[in-house]
This record gives sequence, C-alpha cells and structure tokens, in this order.
Amino acid sequence: MTETPEQPPSDEDAARHREKMRKRKAVQDARVAQATQEKGLLMVHTGPGKGKTTAALGMMLRTAGYGLRVGFIQFVKGNWATGEQAALARFADLIDHHVMGEGFTWDTQDKARDIAAASRAWDLGRRMLADPQYHLVVLDEINIVLRYGYLDVAEVLAGLDTRLPDTHVLLTGRNAKPEIIEAADLVTEFQAVKHPFQAGIKAQRGIDF
Ligand code: ATP
Ligand code: MG
Repeated sequence: MTETPEQPPSDEDAARHREKMRKRKAVQDARVAQATQEKGLLMVHTGPGKGKTTAALGMMLRTAGYGLRVGFIQFVKGNWATGEQAALARFADLIDHHVMGEGFTWDTQDKARDIAAASRAWDLGRRMLADPQYHLVVLDEINIVLRYGYLDVAEVLAGLDTRLPDTHVLLTGRNAKPEIIEAADLVTEFQAVKHPFQAGIKAQRGIDF
C-alpha cells in the first residue's frame, strides 16, 4: 500500500482547529479550577488483569521523585528475589520496603502462619499511616488477605480512616472487597484481555518479577 503524504492544513482547517482547541481549553480550565480540594487518597488497584503492583511501583517512583517518603509493604509475595527489591534498595532513603508475606498460600500451606504474617504486616502498615513522614503507603496484595479473611475488613477500614489527613494509601490485589471499593476515592479495575501465561509462556524477568 502506498502512503499518501500528509497535506499541510488549509488556512480554513487551521482556523477551525484553533477555535475547537480554544473551546476545549476553556472547558478543561474550568474543570481544573473546580478541583480545589486536597486530601490524602484511598486508592485501590484491583481486577484480574496484570499491572496492579507494577502501577503501584510507578506511583512510588513518582512520589520519591519529589523527595517524599513511601512505605511499601508486600503482604503476600514470598521471599524470592524480585527486580523491584534490588531497584528499590537504591531508593532506601525514601522508600521503606518490607516483604512481610511468607509466600503464596498454596506454597506455605499453613493458615495460622499466613494469618500471623498478615497481622504483622498490617501492624506495620498502621504505624506508617500514623507517621507524618510517609506521603504514600502501599499495602500490596492486602485485598487478597482480606478476601481470605486473614484480616478483618472492618478493622482495616477503621485503621485507614484514622490515617493522617494528607497521607495517601494504595491497596492492591484482585477481588477487592465491596466495603473497600465503597470507601475508596480512586478505584481502577485491571482487566485481563490477554496474558502470555495462558499461552504457556513463563513469567519473565523484569516484566513479571
Ligand atoms: P504485576 O506484579 O505484574 O503488576 P499484578 O500485581 O497485577 O501483576 P498479581 O495478581 O499480583 O498481579 O499477580 C502477580 C503475578 O501473576 C505476576 O507475575 C503477573 O504477571 C501474573 N499475572 C497477573 N495477572 C495475570 C493473569 N491474568 N494471568 C496470568 N498471570 C497473571
Ligand atoms: Mg500484584
């Protein structure tokens, strides 16, 4: 197929475009002017699609870029090495990373141990939420432990509620409980359209761990 070279816009086209953009800018400026509230957000990354933890890492990187402190607690991930562990170690002055989980439940096969690990992780999370030095606290895979009933959702909600007013908190993991979704300011549902695992392709370094 031959490509038609792009024609330069006519004066009339250019004027129409300018007018359209002028109107769009007015609408956008009005929206921005209306959004004046500041508050520490309760955010949720949930759903079956890949990217919940990866997107959390992106938010941490952004926060750290302003020299602001981040608490990052992983509730489920086991003790195998991940790329983020090594990368975050370089930001140790700003990002407090704690791997508190003992591994996937089907690996530990020990419910009492999983519950104890979840409760230790939540204790640390609660302390971070009450500590003014943290701008963002990420509770990675907490939705999973809530779904299994290893932590009480009412207790977690009460803890989130008493956080400092400026502290942002992000909860990740599939199957977020309806109570959590209801309480949140920002909820993104990650949808699985395609995943290489379904085609027999194994987890990839840098992409999955
Ligand atoms: P990631 O850590 O890659 O951002 P995630 O946090 O959205 O993924 P989890 O439920 O925490 O997803 O699962 C983590 C692992 O499972 C990752 O290795 C990821 O690639 C894989 N995974 C995520 N979604 C799917 C899926 N829909 N099918 C198969 N494997 C998946
Ligand atoms: Mg995850």
